[in-house]
Amino acid sequence: MNVKKIMIIGAGQMGAGIAQVCAEAGYDVGLHDSNQDSLKRGHKVISQNMANQVKKGRITEQIAASSLSRITTTSDLHQAGEVDLVIEAVIENMDVKTMLFTQLDHITPAHTILASNTSSLPITELAAATNRPEQVIGMHFMNPVPVMKLVEIIRGLATSDDVYQTIEEVTKVLKKVPVEVNDFPGFVSNRVLMPMINEAIFTVYEGVATKEAVDEVMKLGMNHPMGPLTLADFIGLDTCLYIMETLHEGFGDDKYRPCPLLRKYVKAGWLGRKSGQGFYQYNN
Ligand code: NAD
Repeated sequence: MNVKKIMIIGAGQMGAGIAQVCAEAGYDVGLHDSNQDSLKRGHKVISQNMANQVKKGRITEQIAASSLSRITTTSDLHQAGEVDLVIEAVIENMDVKTMLFTQLDHITPAHTILASNTSSLPITELAAATNRPEQVIGMHFMNPVPVMKLVEIIRGLATSDDVYQTIEEVTKVLKKVPVEVNDFPGFVSNRVLMPMINEAIFTVYEGVATKEAVDEVMKLGMNHPMGPLTLADFIGLDTCLYIMETLHEGFGDDKYRPCPLLRKYVKAGWLGRKSGQGFYQYNN
């Protein structure tokens, strides 16, 4: 299938990044969010990112301007009635996502592919909320989207080969590297990464070391570019908690029990970088 128009649902840190790379690759992009402030913030982040790229000489001013002109923001979900591909990037919550997929199934044309950027939730279950399970697929971008090369492509139980091929091609047009994985909780990336982050939080919770010490050990000792607690703040502590809960419930194994300190921070509204406070403080 020839994809020309893409709608991104959710203009948060991931949705804005996905919209940016899609527009830079030449697609017509609709960016939707149910929250007007998030929509404005998402668009501002994209234009600032593009301006930075111009400053660094990575793209010309004309390319930045034409890419930006390909992005239309909307709070009307019915604009999805004209697109070939939807990439959903709303909060990591199954009820919110399934409701959205059911709505999108009614709004979008029969050929439209519905992709989710979920970090951990079952694609097969999202697909079951629609009447087109063969056209539902996971497209898991990494954060920050404009920088990171990987896209995990997750096949649901019913995802067709044609749909898989189309999404693999779109990923390559975005200058990303697709890696095929099957539909199990956390896929590959977060099944491996998130228990490591959760364990790092436990080491702070149990007083084994300070947060700075834990981050320093993993940076200098394991050559990680950033420590796990800094990374958790970057991802968003709410997203980390949702993912741990998905792993815990999905496998029914207590080794995935979210650390109580993570729960406490999320309940306090300490969501990391995006809220200004997480394990560390940020001046947003
Ligand atoms: P975020 O909190 O920054 O943004 C979520 C956005 O969704 C918000 O702007 C919110 O207003 C909007 N939203 C919520 N409900 C909506 C609805 N019903 N309709 C339209 N918009 C709605 O979250 P994020 O970090 O961008 O994460 C988004 C998705 O991407 C999640 O599924 C997350 O697991 C996944 N993801 C996150 C990361 C990461 O590092 N943060 C990495 C890969 C994938």
